[in-house]
Amino acid sequence: MRTEMSAAAAVAAHDLVKTYPGDITALCGLTIEVRPGEVFGLLGPNGAGKSTTMKILTTLATPDSGRATVAGHDVLRHPDRVRHEIGVIAQRSGADPLATGRDNLALQGRLYGMSGSRLRHRVAELLNRFDLTEAADRTVRTYSGGMQRRLDVALGLVHRPQVLFLDEPTTGLDPETRAAMWVEIGRLAGSDGLTILLTTHYLDEADRLADRIALVDHGTVVATGTPDELKDGLRGDAVHVELRTNVTAQSEPAVRAAIADLPGVRELSVDGRRVSARTDDGAAAVPAVLTALDRAGIPVAAVTVARPSLDDVYLRHVGRRFAEAEADAAPGDAGAGAHETGAARTETTDALTTTGGSR
Ligand code: ADP
Ligand code: MG
Repeated sequence: MRTEMSAAAAVAAHDLVKTYPGDITALCGLTIEVRPGEVFGLLGPNGAGKSTTMKILTTLATPDSGRATVAGHDVLRHPDRVRHEIGVIAQRSGADPLATGRDNLALQGRLYGMSGSRLRHRVAELLNRFDLTEAADRTVRTYSGGMQRRLDVALGLVHRPQVLFLDEPTTGLDPETRAAMWVEIGRLAGSDGLTILLTTHYLDEADRLADRIALVDHGTVVATGTPDELKDGLRGDAVHVELRTNVTAQSEPAVRAAIADLPGVRELSVDGRRVSARTDDGAAAVPAVLTALDRAGIPVAAVTVARPSLDDVYLRHVGRRFAEAEADAAPGDAGAGAHETGAARTETTDALTTTGGSR
């Protein structure tokens, strides 16, 4: 079967391959398709290839092979046309810390050929929208992390792009500022009708924010779908039983024997006082599990049923927990992710939006 890139897609990348000097394979055949008006999340641990994908799609890097279009334009043949249609918010802020917020926005507008009152009005509109009017004439280095990130988003919007690229929009922000950023991104996609492609290594962020997700691992997409589709694909709930006492080497066979053969129970694991299994129907399995443990004389402290999470989806497709992949990537990740920790994006609490009653 031939795979054609859909002309209707806002962003389409087909079989992107990218290697860096030193034989580092950043992408090894990455394919995604983003529909107009949706928030699409590239979710993967550090080093997965998310930023490299963003750089290719925003014409800042070229792939070794593969094709991509953005807003209908080929990124290799017509990079200038692509640039005109997109806003880019890089992982690292592009604002000049020594200039004011207003001057940063005006400079950005001039880069896109705007000037005069049209530019002045657009700058004022964005300052207002992102709650930066009061701080507009202060240098950016005096801004909090949340204010800087809001300015970054405003900078990406000056020329009214169709497609917005956000690389790790909330990395380093405190929870409250992150939540406010989520609201703003949702609004950009909703009422403003933008198509948004964002990257994140936060499972909860992808879950909350993205209409659809591509799970990226080692330079390729291992699963695509809405968060619900991906979770439903696992078919079944997790049942976690907390025992009153630790399972020992002596007692483990009895615990396993009690539960393992119950109908619909699979993927049994035992760790300390915690016994976990996957079942087709968690609510139905709970009484059977409790009865079986009771009969075997194993006292239970608590039991919970959990719907599958994106972490479970990742485990299923990649074979390890997301946090483990992050921990593995951290020491050797000399690439674009490395400056995240050094960027000192320390943050005081401040709301992304004070108008509109969203908080
Ligand atoms: P992510 O954004 O998902 O953390 P990246 O796309 O930044 O991943 O990196 C993918 C891989 O490519 C990593 O192994 C990273 O170290 C490497 N890499 C990224 N940029 C460069 C570069 N400029 N030179 C060499 N290696 C790089
Ligand atoms: Mg990155």
